[in-house]
Amino acid sequence: MIRFDDVVKRFGSHTVLDHLDFSVDRGDKVTLIGPSGSGKTTILRLLMTLETVSDGVIWVDGKPLTHEYRGTRLVPAKEKSLREARKNIGMVFQQFNLFPNMTVLQNITEAPVHVLGQTRDQAVQQAKVLLDMVGLSDKESAHPHQLSGGQQQRVAIARCLAMSPQVMLLDEVTSALDPELVDGVLAVLRDIATSTDITMLIVTHEMRFAREVSDRVLMFDAGRIAEEGPPEQIFEDPREERTREFLKAVL
Ligand code: ATP
Repeated sequence: MIRFDDVVKRFGSHTVLDHLDFSVDRGDKVTLIGPSGSGKTTILRLLMTLETVSDGVIWVDGKPLTHEYRGTRLVPAKEKSLREARKNIGMVFQQFNLFPNMTVLQNITEAPVHVLGQTRDQAVQQAKVLLDMVGLSDKESAHPHQLSGGQQQRVAIARCLAMSPQVMLLDEVTSALDPELVDGVLAVLRDIATSTDITMLIVTHEMRFAREVSDRVLMFDAGRIAEEGPPEQIFEDPREERTREFLKAVL
């Protein structure tokens, strides 16, 4: 489903991802863990096409995400094909990023209407189902500033799902929340992880959550994968010293 093929990302002279190879199967829930600055967010931003690769190719569904074919040659993708590829990938950010001047319902229906071409009625109907799923049916007319952080994040999750993404990218979605609001958001995500076949890439510092929902954990260090495996192995029996040190610091 997703394949990083010898991907390098540099910011100036700083190599953030260092010849990275990994793949994620369709429907898999994969958690990215590792110290600050190890490149986890950059991986999600590359998949969301918010950044471009310095080298290598990212493939999604057998097609190059970062590139397009010119004859048989791969050349960096132009905006038009990036826009097309982006439709299948949704991202939820640490800071919610809701449109502040729109109601909850408008936040969720905006992209399905304007990007997917749904009718407003279709989009509203779907938004109501999603709001019910995230426990916010009574908030459809509220504006973001009238909601708690946890509620805003649940709207952001509903907004992401409204685009029926094949891939969902979650970037530390509970890090900006007051502790008492974290569980509500994680419960919604747990529900999505177990009840859908959406491929999920999750960057999180919530190790208990990572352990519960992931099929596989990738431990990053300095732009490379230090260790990968099923959560039981990574959390109970890590093989690499680097993983042991990291887990000791965060658990
Ligand atoms: P954290 O857990 O703190 O979010 P991370 O593992 O997600 O860390 P990234 O955010 O991917 O790490 O950042 C990796 C490195 O790339 C960091 O050293 C960061 O400073 C650098 N970096 C990220 N974006 C940029 C940018 N736009 N310009 C320059 N450097 C950047």
